[in-house]
Amino acid sequence: MPQANAGNIVQKVSEAEKIRRARVNINDYMEYVFDIEQADLHRQWHDFIQSKKWSMILAPQFHGKSTQITLGIPTFGLGKNPNLRFGIVRQSEPMGHSAISAIKETIEENGRYHTVFPHVTPNKKLSWKLDRLTVVRDRTDESPSIHSMGITSAPSGRKDWLMFDDPCTYVNSISQPRQRQSIIDNSWTPFKNLLGPNGRMTYICTPYHEADLTGVLRKHKVFAGAVFAKGINRNFDPIWEEVWPRQALMDWFETEINPREFWRAFGLETVSADEQLITVDQLTALKVPFFKIPETWHKFTGVDLAIANTRRGADNKRTSIFTIAVDPETKYKYTVDIRYGKFSSPETARQIVEVSMEHKPQLIYVESNNYQYALQEWIAVSGIPGSSEASQKIQPYFTGSEKTDASIGLPGLAGECSRGMWRIPSDMEDHSGTCKCGTCQWIREFTTYPVAEFSDVLMASWMSMRAANSYSYEPQVIFIGAGGHRKRRMMYEIP
Ligand SMILES: [Zn+2]
Repeated sequence: MPQANAGNIVQKVSEAEKIRRARVNINDYMEYVFDIEQADLHRQWHDFIQSKKWSMILAPQFHGKSTQITLGIPTFGLGKNPNLRFGIVRQSEPMGHSAISAIKETIEENGRYHTVFPHVTPNKKLSWKLDRLTVVRDRTDESPSIHSMGITSAPSGRKDWLMFDDPCTYVNSISQPRQRQSIIDNSWTPFKNLLGPNGRMTYICTPYHEADLTGVLRKHKVFAGAVFAKGINRNFDPIWEEVWPRQALMDWFETEINPREFWRAFGLETVSADEQLITVDQLTALKVPFFKIPETWHKFTGVDLAIANTRRGADNKRTSIFTIAVDPETKYKYTVDIRYGKFSSPETARQIVEVSMEHKPQLIYVESNNYQYALQEWIAVSGIPGSSEASQKIQPYFTGSEKTDASIGLPGLAGECSRGMWRIPSDMEDHSGTCKCGTCQWIREFTTYPVAEFSDVLMASWMSMRAANSYSYEPQVIFIGAGGHRKRRMMYEIP
């Protein structure tokens, strides 16, 4: 049938034309070989990278960075010139392996890639491994064609094109400030030195901290005029409309427990030292050797429940129970018992009753939500010894906007700590690194807020402070407020 034949011819021509274009232009290459639609954003990245010998791209999470850059550029580059040597530097070696495996799969299994660049074939005798690939080339060379490395591993081999792909992470930029400095001091120069004078450098990432490697380099003269930064603005204007339209961005924002993290990950708003509530050194200075806390000291417990808001990723939340004691003389607050974990409801009830029995807190503040009422009732009727006593001490606490209030919110807690009004009884051993003890977890969350992975222990500590500060040490009568709520300030009498 003539018509069908005509259609076939048109399609064949266009297929041949697509292949021809894919050999010339990286955007056509990406569309044809990976069957994706290049957005304006991606075209802008490639234009920018091709126009500079060294370039830095700052981009939001989930906007195609790795596909475009660490998969697209080396596979296209080897097609153009199989003698090229690429280095890919990521946060860790395993992350590097995932970059390599995508490249390997493209060269080995992508039929369209083979059609576009049939001469790119593995040289398995030389290297075809987890961290390095070598293709058949027309000169002898020790260095692999593509070599992936972790930012803290030892760099090796001469490179023609070095790519940094998200080398900075939450852990090495924020939660471990020492590692942040170590990467700047120890990793940058040796990696950079893998390039000769004609080498190219592409650095792509979602920024973390203003003082991490990305933060330092983007202000360094070597990248002057070579930084392309495009993120989501506070108006949620999309930059990759096809995948992240405004509504999708707004919905994603809603899933975030901490809005600040959204603006970091999508808005390129780096975390700065000013935002940090308190430093590790300031908190460590509060440590004192363990001693027996007198029974007469009042104690207060704060509870942050895992199911704070089921709509917002409760998976990432744990329950934390934080108990402090107040020295009646100095009014200093001493940390007494810090526990946290993914507790089931019965386990949460058991833990609260245990804390109540062991420390006899005056008040137990529990973040107020529907789950809190259920839990309180559950404790009351559980029959666990001490449960009715614990249940009576529980007070719902409405956190709301108070959290950020300068005097009573988290800054208020940081203020009390930095003024030395808190003490942390400790075994005085070195707890550095990834220690999981309650105190270490509290310090970690406190010093990495507002972009911390978790903040439940911090929230519980803050509620323990609120309980202590709202507790009246004067004799009071019970008062029934207008709304039928007993006002907590007036509920308790000195025993
Ligand atoms: Zn520890």
